[in-house]
Amino acid sequence: MFDKILIANRGEIALRVIRACREMGIQTVAVHSVADTDAMHVRMADESVCIGPNSSTESYLNPAAIIAACEITGAQAVHPGYGFLSENANFVQMLEDHDITFIGPKAEHIRIMGDKITAKDTAKALGIPVVPGSDGGVDDVDDAKKVAAQIGYPVIIKATAGGGGRGMKVAQDEKGLEVAFRTARSEAKAAFGNPDVYIEKYLQKPRHIEIQVFGDGKGNAVHLGERDCSLQRRHQKVLEEAPGPVITPEERARIGKVCADAIAKIQYAGAGTIEFLYEDGEFYFIEMNTRLQVEHPVTEAIYGVDLVREQIRVAAGEPMELDQDKLKINGHAIEVRINAEKLPNFSPSPGRITQFHAPGGLGVRIDSALYDGYSIPPYYDSLIGKLIVHGRDRPEALARLNRALGELIIDGVDTTIPLFQALLQEPDIQSGNYSIHWLERWLERQK
Ligand code: ADP
Repeated sequence: MFDKILIANRGEIALRVIRACREMGIQTVAVHSVADTDAMHVRMADESVCIGPNSSTESYLNPAAIIAACEITGAQAVHPGYGFLSENANFVQMLEDHDITFIGPKAEHIRIMGDKITAKDTAKALGIPVVPGSDGGVDDVDDAKKVAAQIGYPVIIKATAGGGGRGMKVAQDEKGLEVAFRTARSEAKAAFGNPDVYIEKYLQKPRHIEIQVFGDGKGNAVHLGERDCSLQRRHQKVLEEAPGPVITPEERARIGKVCADAIAKIQYAGAGTIEFLYEDGEFYFIEMNTRLQVEHPVTEAIYGVDLVREQIRVAAGEPMELDQDKLKINGHAIEVRINAEKLPNFSPSPGRITQFHAPGGLGVRIDSALYDGYSIPPYYDSLIGKLIVHGRDRPEALARLNRALGELIIDGVDTTIPLFQALLQEPDIQSGNYSIHWLERWLERQK
């Protein structure tokens, strides 16, 4: 096992990893930008290294600075968290060249899944069902029109390098296609430096269902069921739950096995998530994330596992502790993402926390790097905490979420807490009757 791990991240996910390390008796190194000098992850780690100025490009996204921090501190492995360098194959390659272990999959798998066209082709070849669409990329408007006519409108144009919901445009008909195609390409070029796009059938009322997978890198793999992440704003998740309110045990076992078999076949190592749209009993692959996800705690709650511990074990070459036959679902879990944002426009609301009080009690988990007097810097994303509740069933989890939200106090900045309190009053949320479009429509009605 490693003696010392460097966490190449900040905020709640850095804490999450530090906590797992501490329980395993592993020393931790935090890295931070100048703006994060007083951040909780810096305080909580055994050691810390300042790796650059405020902008993430010059700090958390700077591989050379992170590798230097490993060398100074003698860290043997790097946990990337999510975001930042977590899906950067070049970074993984650089670590390897310096004999530092990356806690995650091989560079090759990150590369394959990082390009959505290659990812989709690979998924298809591995027997995973995909959304009907273009065969690979589409370079000009005339080709786009041909493909769209074949699969039928509406269609969605997506960036092959896409992420975070950017570079996606829907076209309702041939007239709209031209504009959608051009804007998607220019947005993709601006956001990712790569204008390549592909086309998919735009599904009307799907749910976002993702399967958590885990591999040991030697050809063994398991699945840990699904998470329903259909409540989204601008293609970004807002609330996640597991198990999915409409997924049957048979569907779970079937799609779970397809996913586990697929990653076993490529000898995938560590945690991964295979994302699907689900409509009328069918699953359609959209992408795979080769890292820990923000919403991983709902899976941990219902399966009683520690995914970060397992990631670290597998990266250190120890056998995987997860065993498909022993993975049984216990109850229901829901996570809400608490962002420092001002409603109704969700505009960023950085600033000083004058009071922070975390809820507690049975079945409540809060993953947050906040503390009294902390100043949320304006340079990074607005996620300031995750509230995760676990109950014996979905109604109990909902009641617990309502109770815990009532106890949670975050003063000094605006947060998304009132959004969740309002959502819990909605019959559709109470019954689990929502698709990926539900939240946008609801928000529209609140104006
Ligand atoms: P990103 O990597 O930018 O998050 P994804 O491919 O994961 O992009 O898609 C994000 C979200 O966009 C999905 O959860 C879904 O809400 C929507 N979406 C993507 N593809 C389709 C599609 N073919 N039809 C309908 N909605 C889609």
